[in-house]
Amino acid sequence: MSAKGPEDYAAKPNPRNGRTRLISANWKMNLNHLEAIAAVQKLFYLLRPADYRYAEISLHPPFTDLRSLQLLIETDRMPLVLGAQNTYPESSGAFTGEVSPSMLSRLNVKYVIVGHSERRELFGESDAFIARKVRAVLDASMLPILCVGEGEEERQAGRTGEVLSDQVERALVSVKAEELGKVVVAYEPKWAIGTGNSATATDAADAASVIRATLTERFRAEVANEVRVQYGGSVNAGNARAFLELPELDGLLVGGASLDPEAFARVIQA
Ligand code: PEP
Repeated sequence: MSAKGPEDYAAKPNPRNGRTRLISANWKMNLNHLEAIAAVQKLFYLLRPADYRYAEISLHPPFTDLRSLQLLIETDRMPLVLGAQNTYPESSGAFTGEVSPSMLSRLNVKYVIVGHSERRELFGESDAFIARKVRAVLDASMLPILCVGEGEEERQAGRTGEVLSDQVERALVSVKAEELGKVVVAYEPKWAIGTGNSATATDAADAASVIRATLTERFRAEVANEVRVQYGGSVNAGNARAFLELPELDGLLVGGASLDPEAFARVIQA
């Protein structure tokens, strides 16, 4: 009998809605390739078959770690999925310092985070630029994780719904209805990222409902219902369950707590 591999541990769709949960680790600019290898080996040791069947688990390391992790995951047949944190929306050329979607897909990257609030704020990425990235990721046969979220002032002004709808509509301007199911939307309120101050489950459920209503209005309800919506912002082992239990949500995008394999395993097992 052959040893079990990734195909035996494929995540099962949620029977409530047919969507496969996705729990993603955004390492940001942390862990060099040696640290990344050690972290993934430890995570693999900690996770059980039931964890992989519960949700697809994607790891989004810095670019310099991708090749090492690809080799590790594929050689050891780990049921983990490789992701990237960013890309540039051109296939090649004079774009010093950038990495193209086709370079990522060649490394078997499946998911690419697009429009993270740190990129919007620190690197001045506009909705129009983010829309080009969404298009480029889909064109390279990968799946975008589109991050949207309101700032503290917008929240205080009661503008959360409007901000989320605008960001979703602008980022998906060139996406066709038949492609929509490939898009993952992460609701990441800016005030909750890296602050230790997460949204409440009610806030996250309301935001996910606004996102799905926007998708339903712009596309058809059937395709809007295929889109997975994650929550991200100070998720940890203590609060993960409250988000994962929500029928509106299909997973989590985890920053700080994903850097430590034990903490990340506890989030997945929450
Ligand atoms: C993130 O960066 O996407 C994130 C959610 O970070 P944290 O979990 O640290 O708030």
